[in-house]
Amino acid sequence: MGNRNSVASPASGQTRDSANPGSPAALDASKLSMTLAKTLKPLQSIETLRFGQSFSDHMIVATYDPEMGWSAPEVKPYGPITLDPQCSCFQYGGNVFEGMKAYLGPDGKARLFRPDMNMRRMEKSCARLALPPIDGDVVLELIKRLVNVERRWIPKESGYSLYIRPTLMMYKHSPDWNVGLGVTASDHAMLYILASPTGPYFSKPVSLLAVSENVRAWPGGTGGHKVAGNYSPGFLPQRAAAEKGYDQILWLFGDDRRVTEAGAMNFFVVVKRDDEDGVDLITAPLDGTILPGVTRASCLALANDPEFHKEISVRLHPQEMVYTMSDLAKWSSEGKLLEALAIGTAVIVGPCNRIGFEGKDIVIPGDEMGPIGTAIRKKILDIQEGRTEWKGWGVVCT
Ligand SMILES: *Cc1c(COP(=O)(O)O)cnc(C)c1O
Repeated sequence: MGNRNSVASPASGQTRDSANPGSPAALDASKLSMTLAKTLKPLQSIETLRFGQSFSDHMIVATYDPEMGWSAPEVKPYGPITLDPQCSCFQYGGNVFEGMKAYLGPDGKARLFRPDMNMRRMEKSCARLALPPIDGDVVLELIKRLVNVERRWIPKESGYSLYIRPTLMMYKHSPDWNVGLGVTASDHAMLYILASPTGPYFSKPVSLLAVSENVRAWPGGTGGHKVAGNYSPGFLPQRAAAEKGYDQILWLFGDDRRVTEAGAMNFFVVVKRDDEDGVDLITAPLDGTILPGVTRASCLALANDPEFHKEISVRLHPQEMVYTMSDLAKWSSEGKLLEALAIGTAVIVGPCNRIGFEGKDIVIPGDEMGPIGTAIRKKILDIQEGRTEWKGWGVVCT
C-alpha cells in the first residue's frame, strides 16, 4: 500500500516558508485573508433556533498540501466545498471535529470556555487518524477571529451562544500518488471552521434507554477521540431507542453492563453517601472508551473545589469509577440515586428522569433538574457568560 511518508521530501527545493525555507508552511493565523459575504443573512429570532440548524455568514478554510504545507487561511462566505469523491474522508471517515461555544457576556465581550482543552483534544484526534498535525493554538487564534467577524450572530440572551465547529478532514490525494481507493490516509487535508447560533439544547428531563447489544466504544478503539467514525454507528440504535419512546441511549459496555456515556454526552449520577457527608458525583473513568469532555472535566474540577462547595453549601465527592447497571438499580432501590445528568458542550448539564433497562425503568424522582445539576449548570454558565471569573476558564476573544 502506498505510504506517502516513505516518499522522499519535495524534490523541487521550492521555498515553502520564508522563515523556514524548504519545509512545508505552518498554519499561520497572521496570514488570514478576508472575503466577506456581499449580502448578510437575516438573524434568526431566538425562539426558532435549533441546535446546529443554521449557520452564520462566513467560515474559515485552510488546506494542507504535503509539499507546500498550509495555505493562508481564509474567511469566506459560508457555502459548499468541492471535494474529490475518492478521498478518505468519504470512503473511510478520515475526519475529526470539535465543538465549542462562544458566549456574549454582560460586558459585551465574546468568550470561549476552556478552548485550550478542545484544541489539545483536536491535536490528539488528528494524530489518531494520521491527519497532518495541527497547531491547536493557531486554530484557536482562527476561531477567535471568526467569532469576532461573526459577533452579530452571538445571541445576547442567557443560555444562547454561537456554537463553533472546527473540522479537519482528509481532502484529496496527490495526483502522482496512485492511491485511488486504497485503504490509506489521504495526504491533503482541509480545515474548516463553522459557526452556528444556538440555544438551550434540552431543559426538560430526557429519558435514556440502556443499550448493551451495540457499543459506542471499546478498549483500544477510538471512543476517546472526537473522530467522525464514532458517531454514525450510533444512528441506528438511536432510532430504535426513539421508536421505543426514549430520547437518548445510555451506552453500556461489557458483560457486567458498565455505564459509559449518554448519546454523545458524558454521564454523571449523584448518589447519596452512607456517611451523609454531602453526595457522590460519579462518572466513568477515562479508560479510552470515554470521550474526555471539557464539560466533564469542569464538573469534576468544581466537585473537587472547596470554594465551590462553600458557594453551594454541599460537599461534593467526585468519583471517577467503574459502575454498572446493577449499581444504578441498587442505588435507585435504596433511594440513593438522586440525579442523573447528561453533560457536554451543547447541553452543558441536562437532567435525565428515566433509564430503561431490560424492560423496566429506573426512575429518577423530580420533574426538573435536581439541586446539584442545577448548581453546576449555573456555575458553568456564569463562567461562560462572563458573570464570574474562575481560574481562567473564560477566555475573551480579543
Ligand atoms: C463531544 C462529546 C462529549 C462532550 O464533550 P465536551 O467537550 O464536554 O463537549 C461527550 N461524549 C462524546 C461521545 C462526545 O463526542
